[in-house]
Amino acid sequence: MENKVCIVGAGLVGSLLANYMAKRSIQVDMFERRPDMRRTDIPAGRSINLAMSDRGWRALEVVGAEETIRELAIPMHGRLMHDVEGNTHFMPYGKEGQYINSVSRGELNMRLLSLAEKTGKVNTYFDERCTNVDLDNGTLTFTNENTGVETTNTYDRIFGADGAFSAIRNAMMRRDRFNYSQYYITSGYKELTMPPVPEKKWAIDNGALHIWPRKDFMLIALPNLDGSFTCTLFMPFDGEEGFDNLKTHDQVQAFFEKYFPDALQHMPTLLEDWDSNATSPLMTVSCNPWNHKGKFLLMGDAAHAVVPFYGQGMIAGFEGVRILNEMLDKYENWDVAFEEYSKYRQPDGDGIRQLALDNYREMRDLVADEHFIRKRQLSGKIHEIFGENWMPLYTMVTFSHVRYSEAYAKGQWQNKVLNELVATGLSKDSSEAEIKAAVMPYLKVTN
Ligand SMILES: Cc1cc2nc3c(=O)[nH]c(=O)nc-3n(C[C@H](O)[C@H](O)[C@H](O)COP(=O)(O)OP(=O)(O)OC[C@H]3O[C@@H](n4cnc5c(N)ncnc54)[C@H](O)[C@@H]3O)c2cc1C
Repeated sequence: MENKVCIVGAGLVGSLLANYMAKRSIQVDMFERRPDMRRTDIPAGRSINLAMSDRGWRALEVVGAEETIRELAIPMHGRLMHDVEGNTHFMPYGKEGQYINSVSRGELNMRLLSLAEKTGKVNTYFDERCTNVDLDNGTLTFTNENTGVETTNTYDRIFGADGAFSAIRNAMMRRDRFNYSQYYITSGYKELTMPPVPEKKWAIDNGALHIWPRKDFMLIALPNLDGSFTCTLFMPFDGEEGFDNLKTHDQVQAFFEKYFPDALQHMPTLLEDWDSNATSPLMTVSCNPWNHKGKFLLMGDAAHAVVPFYGQGMIAGFEGVRILNEMLDKYENWDVAFEEYSKYRQPDGDGIRQLALDNYREMRDLVADEHFIRKRQLSGKIHEIFGENWMPLYTMVTFSHVRYSEAYAKGQWQNKVLNELVATGLSKDSSEAEIKAAVMPYLKVTN
């Protein structure tokens, strides 16, 4: 019997995992260092959202959480690119009917927490920071953030769902043969707001993810249900066009007037937001093994923090929870399931880490590049003709359940093939017969 189970971290992944444990009829203690967000005021105008797509929905569906989260979703059918002159260009994400969704991060977390508690299987403890980890005995110490009171408990199984700076992982790092690397990219990010407008509600089209690609930096905007957009500026810290060089209001205003004039006209609170919202760094984490002696298992960002450019960080964590659940079904013995999960899933953590790093360049630079657009359009056309035999990389990652490691490898190969095909003059406007003849030798299909 796996009777004493603990989840450290009640973030997005911890909260979903709690629902999965409850569905297995397992009693769980879940500890979170922050206050309960359902009982804390979120400052007005600070709705933060994230992109949700198929892998995430599937993981939610297993525990019956999909429907309630769908209520929060705003479909985004493609990328709407804005150039400096204010011209826009729409790039669909996939075929007709394929779209990603903008979902409020806070609401998603709160609903998952409430669903978990409603099962009667999950005890949640807030303001409790995990401050000591005894890996051999499964004993954890939590320190209350308000009172400083310490509590110590021992568990049979402990999940480290405590994010990119995981306390559980820190303890594992002090053991032999634990590999770890973290990497900060040179860019950081700042969240800004585009408030609702009275007549139309959303100031710009709410059916797309907006991108203002500017080569070394970019602004993006995702819609919220209240009619606002959460805008995020991704930019290097250093250099002339870098966060460290935008110190005064005049500099910020001039920067937006120069690079994002059409967005600026809808951002009346820009300077206020600039001052009140932090500029945060972006990092990736790679480590292994995620399992320690069948007692501890790292989940979500604690195991595989990635940069946000594929909109898959949380989703990868959600998919991991679903896969772990399948392994618990398959192996029954939890020691084996933890070990197998760690071995199986770690290459996928590395896959999505690399895909997300590559996508930064694509979003801020390549989406405005003729050669890239041509390859992307041709890839879509090949998919129309060859179906499952050729799935564009974005489709594989976003609208399929192909392993991230496999998607990454196939994407590398496809890019090479597309470069070769485009060099021969092939394009989306070539005839079907021409495309078939050119692509068939690569795919080794015969009809
Ligand atoms: C700008 C940005 C945009 C993003 N956009 C997307 C997106 O569009 N789609 C997507 O899928 N992903 C996105 N992500 C990634 C996503 O936010 C993360 O992958 C996700 O939050 C990971 O969930 P988690 O539960 O593993 O970690 P977290 O959300 O970090 O939760 C960990 C929890 O553990 C708690 N904790 C930490 N230490 C302790 C401790 N010692 N004791 C107790 N509790 C502790 C924390 O307070 C936190 O609540 C984005 C990330 C960023 C930075």
